[in-house]
Amino acid sequence: METNYRPTKAIVDLSAIDHNIKLLKKRVEGAKLIAVVKADAYGHGVLQIVRQALRSGASMLAVATPDEAIHLRENGVEAELLVMGASPVRFIEVAIKHNINLTAYSMEWLEAAAEELEREVGSLKIHMKFDTGMRRIGFQPEEAEAVFGFVGQHPFSVEGLYTHFATADEAENPLFLKQVKEINTIRKKWRGKDLLFHVSNSAAAILHPELSFDAVRTGISIYGITPSAYVKKEMPFKLQQAMSLETEIVHVKKVKKGETLSYGATYMCEKDEWIATLPIGYADGLIRGLQGQEVLVQGERMPIVGRICMDQCMIRLTERFPVGEKVQLLGSQKGDTILIEDWAEKLGTIPYEIPCILTNRVPKEYTGG
Ligand SMILES: *Cc1c(COP(=O)(O)O)cnc(C)c1O
Repeated sequence: METNYRPTKAIVDLSAIDHNIKLLKKRVEGAKLIAVVKADAYGHGVLQIVRQALRSGASMLAVATPDEAIHLRENGVEAELLVMGASPVRFIEVAIKHNINLTAYSMEWLEAAAEELEREVGSLKIHMKFDTGMRRIGFQPEEAEAVFGFVGQHPFSVEGLYTHFATADEAENPLFLKQVKEINTIRKKWRGKDLLFHVSNSAAAILHPELSFDAVRTGISIYGITPSAYVKKEMPFKLQQAMSLETEIVHVKKVKKGETLSYGATYMCEKDEWIATLPIGYADGLIRGLQGQEVLVQGERMPIVGRICMDQCMIRLTERFPVGEKVQLLGSQKGDTILIEDWAEKLGTIPYEIPCILTNRVPKEYTGG
C-alpha cells in the first residue's frame, strides 16, 4: 500500500556525502576520519549515511549515546564505534559484547567502571576524554597522572585520548590555543601503548589541519554544512549540502489587494497577488520563525507569507504557477540554492539545529549512492 501521498520530502544526496568526506580526508592528510553520526546523522538518516561514509573512507564512527550505538550494531554496522557522551556503567556489559568504545571522563566513572569490570569477562575499550576548556565532560588536566595510573591497573583497553574545542569555529580565540597546549601536555605524559589521539571537530579540521594528529571527528561538514559564518569566510574548499527539502504547490488562487491571509490575518496583499499553498508546516520542521524565508519555484525566489500553519503554509508567486509545480525549500533549483545556513540566519541560530528540527513526518529519499 502506498504510504506517502504527500509530495513533501527530504532528499539526501549521498554523492555529496562522498564529495565532502573525500575533501576533508585530503585536507587532514593521513589522519583518519571519524564520521560523527549522532542524532540520526544530524537528521540525515544514520544507516544510509554510515554505509556511505564507510564507503567514502571514514575509518570509524562516533555517536552521542549508548542507544545510538546499539542501534548501529543491531543493524549490522561493524565498524569501530565510539560513544562520546556519558554512558552509565551498567552499559559496559553490552559495550563489551558489541565491541563499542566508551568515553572515560571522570575518576568517579573510572572507579565505578572498574568495579563493574570485576563481574565481566574481557576488557572494555575506552577513549580517555580530557576537559581542556569546554567544561562539559572530561577529566581535568591535573588528573592525568592518576587517570593513566588507574587505567593501567584495571582491565581497560585504552584505545584513544581526546578533547573537544569550545571555540574552534571562531577567529583565533585564546581559549582555543590554551586547549591545544593543555592536550599536548597531557599527551606527552602518556606512557602506555599506542592510542588514537584526536582533538578536531569540523571547524578545527578545516581551519587547522596541522592539528589533525591521528584522527579528526567530523560531523557537520560531512553533511555539507559549514560550522559557522567565520569558517565559511575562511573555507579553503567548497562543501556540498547533502539535504534538500521539496514539495509541490497544492492550491493556487488570486488574493485581492487589501485582503489578508493565514492565522491572525497578519499578512495583507499590497496588490492582487498569486498565492500558492504548500503542504508543509511546522509539524514537519518548517517552524513559524521561517515566515518570510524564500523558497525556489522555477529557480526564482518567492517568500513564505503569513503565519506558517501546522501542516501548510502559503507563498507569494511572481506569476501564476500550476498545481503540481515543484517547490524547493532547501537545496538547488535552476542554478540557485537555498542553504541550511540561510535558514539558520533567518532563525537567528546555528546551522546545526536546522536538520535536527525536520520531523519524521517528512519522508527521506536517497540519491547518488
Ligand atoms: C558533535 C561532536 C563532534 C562533531 O562536531 P562537528 O562540529 O559537527 O564536526 C566532535 N566531537 C564531539 C565530542 C562532539 O560532541
